[in-house]
Amino acid sequence: MPTTEHPAASSPAATCVNSQRNKPGDIHYWSRTLIPTSKQTPSDAESASHKLLVRAGYVRRVGAGIYSYLPLAWRVLNNLSAIIREEMHTAGAAEMLMPALEPIELMDKTGRADDYGDNLFRLTDRHGRELALAPTHEEIITELMAASVSSYKQLPITLFQIQTKFRDEFRPRSALLRGREFIMKDAYSFHLTLEDAGGLNQTYDAMHRAYTNTFTRCGLDFSVVEAEAGPIGGSASHEFMVNCESGEDTILKCPATGYAANVEKCETGPRAHDLSGDPTGDLDKIHTPDLPTIEEVGKFLKVKPNRMLKTLVFRIAAEDKNATPEFALAVVRGDHDVNEGKLRTAVGKPIRMADDDEARTAGFTIGYVSPRAVLITAQSSLCKTRLLIDPDAAQPGFWAAGADEKDHHVKHFNWRRELGDSLDDPNLAAVADIRNAVAGDPSPRDPNAQLVAARGIEVGHIFKLGCKYSDAMGFQILDQSQQLQSVIMGCYGIGVSRTMQACIEMSHDENGIIWPAAIAPYHIHIIPMKVEPDSAAMQTAETLAADLSAAGLDVLLDDRNERPGVKFNDADLVGVPLRITIGDKALAENSVEFKRRTDPGKGDLIPLSQIVNHCLQG
Ligand code: ATP
Ligand code: MG
Repeated sequence: MPTTEHPAASSPAATCVNSQRNKPGDIHYWSRTLIPTSKQTPSDAESASHKLLVRAGYVRRVGAGIYSYLPLAWRVLNNLSAIIREEMHTAGAAEMLMPALEPIELMDKTGRADDYGDNLFRLTDRHGRELALAPTHEEIITELMAASVSSYKQLPITLFQIQTKFRDEFRPRSALLRGREFIMKDAYSFHLTLEDAGGLNQTYDAMHRAYTNTFTRCGLDFSVVEAEAGPIGGSASHEFMVNCESGEDTILKCPATGYAANVEKCETGPRAHDLSGDPTGDLDKIHTPDLPTIEEVGKFLKVKPNRMLKTLVFRIAAEDKNATPEFALAVVRGDHDVNEGKLRTAVGKPIRMADDDEARTAGFTIGYVSPRAVLITAQSSLCKTRLLIDPDAAQPGFWAAGADEKDHHVKHFNWRRELGDSLDDPNLAAVADIRNAVAGDPSPRDPNAQLVAARGIEVGHIFKLGCKYSDAMGFQILDQSQQLQSVIMGCYGIGVSRTMQACIEMSHDENGIIWPAAIAPYHIHIIPMKVEPDSAAMQTAETLAADLSAAGLDVLLDDRNERPGVKFNDADLVGVPLRITIGDKALAENSVEFKRRTDPGKGDLIPLSQIVNHCLQG
């Protein structure tokens, strides 16, 4: 059974780009194009869509995260791009194309050469100049705009491109879902104001609508969720997530209010805390060598991870390089994860995970740190330390924790006994939401509701960038009163190649792909049972293909001299929405066999005189 019903799949005419433009559709012969269907499943395939892309002859792997798009895939990508273009034009954006090669100095100006880290493909040219293969184009477009626009009268402007992006992903996976070279639509908008007509908010909302229309037209079931801005930076952002259990991203939703957020961003409702409470026993130090994970320590101590304190050391960014180093100790329950974005907000300054050497030098026993380390390091002049405790860890009762001594942990850690009055010193300790939300947490929007978890594939991401890039690159313009102002920016991405694969992940059955008509490589798949040029079947097939093309529909005609079973299996595999089979028996009744990809069985006999209209209705 299909995993989803596509509203778009029901009517090729309603969604056919050619028919909207009154252009004849394409007619392609299977034997004249390259569709290398295969029974073999790639050994590295992790998802149904990856297997189907390869088995149905859409893509071939060239290297890790590098794929060729074969003719069928290229047709789908073009259809998808046509929808994106239409929606971008409706949102007021103009198309252009920027280079993939980017001098590294541009990315140095904004600090993104460092922020992207190893994900950035760097290369050196013959003259020794360093370049990057652009992961997105904020710097190139901001520099271009700064050189081209000097007055408020020229704003707002939104520009977009559909182009190949490069990211040296640590773990490329699942074919096009996470590639190292992939196709992205990226758009950038430029404004003088936030709120007014022509301001960023207006374009952001128009882009939000354009994305909603695009993914709806692709037949996708998706959620729009609040998101973290990541290395692109900025103040507000939303992700468009295809609702799909095999997705990489975790989304949390409030069933009562519709609030939805990526786990990296999701807030929680208020959670009570209590740092009082009597000790559960004497502090008991235990030798715990060679137990690298918290689960292993828990098993050894016979303590569940939710009664263990996990204390991680973060370095707080310093404005003055010679200042005493400052650290934040983040304490969460052993079964929870620290959320760096929330920790940064709680600290009020940029933070990063401390590297082992600097943490050791400052006096932390990495791997065995407990909240008491805040006192140990407070006594030394080597660093300043602050303790941030998540409310679920700030509870009375039994706790196990590190012993601040190599190869040792303690049982019966008690907050008051171990830390005393320092817990009340706001310069030393604070309780704050610093962990990733999990299913079952109180909703931040309704105290009576609990968050539920779902998984998704991120296909689009829109950001309010503010002045991050314009300030870094000196892009200011004169406003009405001749004052120089920083330009306010937004940026908007769609993973085009990832979206194509997400459509397959959402819509397939055990026999193959089920395309929605709006992006299908062809609208109609014609299978003549005989392929000799003078056979009635082939002649009817060619006449019919011409009629369907005249009606604006794209036709794939399987002219291979293969057994019907092979052709039918291949038709199911490649997933064209409508199939017409032409055999002598049906022709004797002046009819052909018509079958939707989603129909069970052989399909219906339709008189030749009605077949074009029948196809137009889907
Ligand atoms: P992810 O979190 O999946 O790594 P991202 O948030 O870093 O993606 P953005 O910078 O927001 O990605 O890029 C815009 C869009 O490009 C994403 O929403 C996604 O659809 C697509 N995309 C990003 N990285 C890849 C990739 N490696 N392969 C295919 N598509 C990608
Ligand atoms: Mg993103």
